[in-house]
Amino acid sequence: MSEQMICIGCGVTIQTEDEKKIGYAPPSALEKDPIICQRCFRLKHYNEVQDVSLTDDDFLNILHGIGQADGLVVKIVDIFDFNGSWLPGLHRFVGKKDVLLVGNKVDLLPKSVKHEKVTQWMKQSARELGLQPRDVFLVSANKGYGMKEAMAAIDEYRNGKDVYVVGCTNVGKSTFINRIIKEATGKGNVITTSYFPGTTLDMIEIPLDDGSALYDTPGIINHHQMAHFVDKKDLKVITPKKEIKPKVYQLNEQQTLFFGGLARLDYVSGGRRPFVCYMSNELFIHRTKRDHADELYEKHLGELLQPPRKSYCEQLPPLVAHHFTLKEPKTDIVFSGLGWVTCHEPGAHVVAYAPKGVGVMLRRSLI
Ligand code: GDP
Repeated sequence: MSEQMICIGCGVTIQTEDEKKIGYAPPSALEKDPIICQRCFRLKHYNEVQDVSLTDDDFLNILHGIGQADGLVVKIVDIFDFNGSWLPGLHRFVGKKDVLLVGNKVDLLPKSVKHEKVTQWMKQSARELGLQPRDVFLVSANKGYGMKEAMAAIDEYRNGKDVYVVGCTNVGKSTFINRIIKEATGKGNVITTSYFPGTTLDMIEIPLDDGSALYDTPGIINHHQMAHFVDKKDLKVITPKKEIKPKVYQLNEQQTLFFGGLARLDYVSGGRRPFVCYMSNELFIHRTKRDHADELYEKHLGELLQPPRKSYCEQLPPLVAHHFTLKEPKTDIVFSGLGWVTCHEPGAHVVAYAPKGVGVMLRRSLI
């Protein structure tokens, strides 16, 4: 190929030689305009995932490139999975560049939650993680909430310069940029969006009015997210689509909650108290006696306790125990990518289980 062709979906260079390699498009696709690689085509039309070959090193290179360029960095996190979707190394690369932090999927939080409180929480958490964002916004890229304000801020802070949009896979970065494109130009759905992590492969350039550009960088895979441990049908169950309805469980000591078969919370000691669960409304929560929990899990994983569905149980890593004593009031026990459980009073001793490799942590309550 003499002229380099770029996929409109993910920005990768198109090649027609090797079907298994990134950027493949059948020769017939080259006659179409715009050109789309097979991987994006499949995602777009069949919602089907293909392996991504972006390595952590590739991503570091991209971050390094951004570090050297001049412009505004817009970092997107998934508010439902704040820590799981955090890019830990970013602050080391951005230098003195302005960063806007955007919390996406705010439509999932219960309506009663005050957004100002959440943005305060985000600012403080960002600082604790080493990033000093210039400003923080809450949006729903899907529903359009907060987009006008975020776009106005991007325009103000970029000051005529380029914009780099970064975020780990599945935070809704493509949806966010698609919406910007739509609002700015009236054209919808230029980038692929899907349920599946890893959809945006190479930096894609979107021209802005004044000769600058907005760059969509590929999403890095944060390996500790639950999304990478379940199959695509189960991912649909654990990914909330609508406002989360918190479920409150009054637990006695030595009781256990199972979150499908993907996670488990043992309440060891601290007196009878409420535990408030913020997870996908479709995820089945099962309460049992702690004494029975191991046996129940062994017998009913993939049946009563699902997801994972039966055929996928063997691929799920074993659950690993994390012991916590909750010392502060209003603490969240977070299961990366699955949600969290809030405990309002200090003094509880709990054991939180998640598949080996999935992040489990305590944090100051988001809500
Ligand atoms: P990317 O990998 O970061 O580019 O993420 P996508 O744009 O492909 O979105 C990942 C998933 O999040 C898809 O299932 C989207 O429908 C969903 N999503 C994106 N934005 C929102 C939002 O504002 N609210 C909710 N609830 N889901 C969203």
